[in-house]
Amino acid sequence: MGWKPCRARSARTVVSAAFAGSGYSLRMSQPPVAQERRIVTSVPGPKSVELERRRRAAVASGVGSVLPVFIARAAGGVVVDVDGNSLIDFGSGIAVTSVGNSAQPVVRNVREQVGAFTHTCFMVTPYEGYVAVCEELAALTPGEHEKRSALFNSGAEAVENAVKIARAATGRGAVVVFDHAYHGRTNLTMAMTAKNAPYKQGFGPFAGEVYRAPLSYPYREPAEISGKEAAERAVALIESQVGAENVACVVIEPIQGEGGFIEPAPGFLPRLAEWCREQGAVFVADEIQTGFCRTGDWFAVEHEAVVPDLVVTAKGIAGGLPLAAVTGRAEIMDAVGAGGLGGTYGGNPVACAAALGAMELMRGERLAERARGIGAAMRAALEETQRSNPVLGDVRGRGAMIAVELVKPGGKEPDAATAKRIAADCHQRGLLVLTAGTYGNVLRFLPPLVMPDHLLREGLAILADACMRA
Ligand SMILES: *Cc1c(COP(=O)(O)O)cnc(C)c1O
Repeated sequence: MGWKPCRARSARTVVSAAFAGSGYSLRMSQPPVAQERRIVTSVPGPKSVELERRRRAAVASGVGSVLPVFIARAAGGVVVDVDGNSLIDFGSGIAVTSVGNSAQPVVRNVREQVGAFTHTCFMVTPYEGYVAVCEELAALTPGEHEKRSALFNSGAEAVENAVKIARAATGRGAVVVFDHAYHGRTNLTMAMTAKNAPYKQGFGPFAGEVYRAPLSYPYREPAEISGKEAAERAVALIESQVGAENVACVVIEPIQGEGGFIEPAPGFLPRLAEWCREQGAVFVADEIQTGFCRTGDWFAVEHEAVVPDLVVTAKGIAGGLPLAAVTGRAEIMDAVGAGGLGGTYGGNPVACAAALGAMELMRGERLAERARGIGAAMRAALEETQRSNPVLGDVRGRGAMIAVELVKPGGKEPDAATAKRIAADCHQRGLLVLTAGTYGNVLRFLPPLVMPDHLLREGLAILADACMRA
């Protein structure tokens, strides 16, 4: 509707301008897979279609896939499927492979560790890798205070443990979360997650003592309201409906992930952190999607100099191996007695080795800085597209965590169908993008931070074009 080819061209020009003279390429290692977009069959191709047939007969249908293209190899900024199609990756397996798939320092460390030993269970006999990861987390997370960490397998498991720790440390029960939040799929984290279908529908009853407060959602606020005012609105609700003295912890994503990359107005997070401090509640930052350089800082809370009591990490921590962590103030973390935290696989030695490789690469390649460059280029391209296409209601996010919220022209009514159509168009043309949002109307972009400029530029041009055609 109403797209003109010349507008798409101008979006391309903007992208090129944002990259002028940058010419990013990895210093530490070259990805072992050609960094090119290549479409040689329909998407999905015949081999993927055949695998999908087997999958339907063997894999539970509750486990979905964004795009039923089966992957054979992946590195840098591309995923290559079993039919030989090479797709530009704007998803990083949901913000996991920020250092690129099969990044060289990750592969090197994993190979070495697998050859030495694969598991002892840290609770039976410990090993250095676990300790080294906790030392790194203490150094990298915000705040100069003494810290401790505990390692887990998944983000949801880490969130659950953050709640356990906060309850043990405060002797209180209530957990405060926010509208549009996503914290996982286990019983407690389902209760903490906002969106019903598909995450909660049919899975209740849910864990108790979880209370939902209103978020700061600048695009959808009914009236002009500052971050601080939005925080006071949440605080008023917590104080009247929960009681400050009952709150063990306030858990919040600094920029919401599955909720649609909602970035609260400035002042919202600092005021909530301050309120927690005043009331003796634990302020927990769920940095599972935002952490590890994604937003242009090591952690998203740094943007407003917020120092959380506990930081929960997972996703980008280990270059694709399953690892998660809770890191925080020593006196809070150590409130749990020996044996109270743990799990058979938590802090698996191979995953720890991978994490140390990923962190080395993030530092060596200065990926936080790179994320800012990616963000600037993405914003420029999307804002240019937005000027001539009113379905792009809001372009938002920070660093290499950018989203666009799609609406019906002339208002703010969510338009999930158009989001779906744009995503499908991108997929057909070899650009992997993800959707998100409570209303399913957000397209989100999470490219690997090592993505070379030419692929980013090409991906953004495809995206601009798909938006114009939608
Ligand atoms: C993905 C995610 C989780 C859950 O992590 P899993 O590893 O999938 O259990 C929790 N919180 C946020 C913000 C996430 O993005």
